[in-house]
This record gives sequence, structure tokens and C-alpha cells, in this order.
Amino acid sequence: MAAYAKPLPMPDIDSQQFWDGCRARELRAQRCQSCGKFRWPPQAFCPHCYSWEFEWAKLGGTGTVCSFVVVHYVSVPAFQDDVPYIVGHITIDGSDNRVTLISNVIECPWEDVRVGMPVRVVFEDVTPEVTLPKFRPL
Ligand SMILES: [Zn+2]
Repeated sequence: MAAYAKPLPMPDIDSQQFWDGCRARELRAQRCQSCGKFRWPPQAFCPHCYSWEFEWAKLGGTGTVCSFVVVHYVSVPAFQDDVPYIVGHITIDGSDNRVTLISNVIECPWEDVRVGMPVRVVFEDVTPEVTLPKFRPL
């Protein structure tokens, strides 16, 4: 198997649990234990009430395409075989519109992707250590 040549996430102390969740086939997000709101992206304190207390909550894995672009020209050669492809901004259900991911919409012709399209997460193991969340139509 050829080495994975595309950019990979670099988990830090705040985001490690999110990436561990992807490996476990779960979308996880921080939820403030003071005000109850989701925090996104993962961070040390709540941007709404400044509390340091939080829990990791499991989200259901469905969402909505709220914006997207169709990539036709690549700047990283490793993506050359993928064009055209979709990079979407996905709002995750059950998060009060606070958790949004930038990811690919896959398993769908690029011409069929629409704003408002319901999607479900698909986890792709791209290396033995890294699993990426991508989305396909419901
Ligand atoms: Zn809070």
C-alpha cells in the first residue's frame, strides 16, 4: 500500500479526544458543564460562559451541508486523482448549530450536492493512526 500523501490532522491536547472518537467511529464534541452549550472547535474554556468544565458528548453523526465548494484544480499533487471533489461545511445535528466540520462530501456525484442536503458521517481510516470523518448523502 502506498504511503498516504495528503495532509493529516495534528491533534493537540484539546482535540485529541475528537480524533480518538473518529477512530472509534464516533463524532464527539465538548459540551460545557456550566451552560450546557457545545464548544467548537475543541478548546480549553467555554467561549459562551468562560467555564473550564466540560464533558465529551457523542453526536449522532448526521448533519446538513450549509456551504460547499467544488475543487477542480489542486495545489497539493496528492489530490490530483480526486478532482472534481467537494469540500463542504457541515452543521452537525444535535449541537444547536454550534458544531460544524469542514470535510468532503463523498459517495455522491459532485453535481448533486446542494446547500441544505442532509448527510451522514462516514469514517475513513487513512493511516493506521488517523481516521477522517467524511459525509455522504442520507
Ligand atoms: Zn459554558
